[in-house]
Amino acid sequence: MTQKIRTRIAPSPTGFLHLGTARTALYSWAYARHFGGEFVLRIEDTDVARSTQDSVDQILESMRWLGLEYDEGPIYQMQRLDRYKAVVDQLMAEGKAYYCYSTPEELDAVREAKKARGEKALYDGRWRPAPGKTLPPVPAGVKPVVRFCNPQDGDVTWNDLVKGPITISNREIDDLIIVRTDGIPTYNFAVVVDDWDMQISHVFRGDEHINNTPWQINIFAALGAPLPLFGHCPVILGDDGQKLSKRRGAVSVTAYEEGGYLPEAMLNYLARLGWSHGDEELFTRAQLVEWFDGTHLNKSPAQWDPVKLLWVNAQYIKQADNTRLAGLVAQQLTRQGITLDASVVQTHLPQVCALLKDRCDTTVALATWAAKFYADVTPDAAELAQHVTDAVKPALQALAAKLATCTWDKASIAAAIKEVLAEVGLKMPQLAMPVRVLVLGTPQTPSVDAVLELLGREKVLARLGRA
Ligand code: GLU
Repeated sequence: MTQKIRTRIAPSPTGFLHLGTARTALYSWAYARHFGGEFVLRIEDTDVARSTQDSVDQILESMRWLGLEYDEGPIYQMQRLDRYKAVVDQLMAEGKAYYCYSTPEELDAVREAKKARGEKALYDGRWRPAPGKTLPPVPAGVKPVVRFCNPQDGDVTWNDLVKGPITISNREIDDLIIVRTDGIPTYNFAVVVDDWDMQISHVFRGDEHINNTPWQINIFAALGAPLPLFGHCPVILGDDGQKLSKRRGAVSVTAYEEGGYLPEAMLNYLARLGWSHGDEELFTRAQLVEWFDGTHLNKSPAQWDPVKLLWVNAQYIKQADNTRLAGLVAQQLTRQGITLDASVVQTHLPQVCALLKDRCDTTVALATWAAKFYADVTPDAAELAQHVTDAVKPALQALAAKLATCTWDKASIAAAIKEVLAEVGLKMPQLAMPVRVLVLGTPQTPSVDAVLELLGREKVLARLGRA
């Protein structure tokens, strides 16, 4: 029987969902969907001091926003402590793990001594049982940790789905602590028990975990558990070539929602950052699932490119349904302090979005344009001086008079403008520019008749009246 494809993402709730984690979540999700498998969300909350509910909420919200539906979870590690304890007991009973009573001071001293001798600062194996070895007397009042008996020789080799074959010698790694003094398991142990219990077939994660993988592979072997395949994705670098970090441009996935990005644009951009399908730059979620089979993942780090992300977002905004855009723009307007009636959001705002979306790369930019239709605009004095000259003012008054009575639709507004141009002998831009500056505060707008129609007679007359 072939094994069912099961992938997972296992974020630690010690901060927001990083872009790198969002990308591995996306790959894990797409891989499972491509092969008709399952995708699991696990919250690795064993770092009790740093894990917060707020981070859990942000992670769940980011997954929801990106549309990364999981088939199981969220599964919380802190609710599985009994299971980890049972597995530790088993390893202890089989002589594959042991108590270590070394104090932090002793461990520091060992490390310093090893470093001074030019050796790798590994644990000295003081408490590791061995045939014929007498262990030190158990000190009173010291709580032990549990260490895993890592093989002392040989190599650990795996064929990484992203990086190809990787070999690390067991001499490079020591007897890992698998349970801390407070009884809580460490990441490298809990992750193995979980991936085993949850029958994970493929692990995609960041390449900062490559050095953890040999330990994990050894623990899988000690447990007699089937080994998943591992794929370690390179880090994402900022535009300065440094790893993205909180200080260097890394913001939460949810910050991009607030910043006016569409989830499908983010999904597209993130997927392409580290993976390719020929030259395709724009693809749908369904195409990603169809194409993503774990090949064509880049071995080298990707560079975060905010300009390209904006471009991708602009393409999706152009295609987006206007009613949907209106809902998103209304949220952005609320953030800008402008609250619209639901009826306006349903009927008028979609038309504003349709008129302006081609010139906007985020819904924030779209909201800034839309605001001009719902809140007052204050034209720049220099623009007014340049465009609303004394020579053009009579034409503006004549136009206002016609617009006060004409039928309020685009064709009649266009006809009124033409009539005025003919009467006063001006060319279109000579009238259209001042009209734009007066009604929207800027000389660059979509076609003036469409703008006026949407703005409505009352606002148009009031704003022209300021000439
Ligand atoms: N909790 C780990 C992290 O957030 C998960 C690593 C893994 O996927 O194994 O980095």
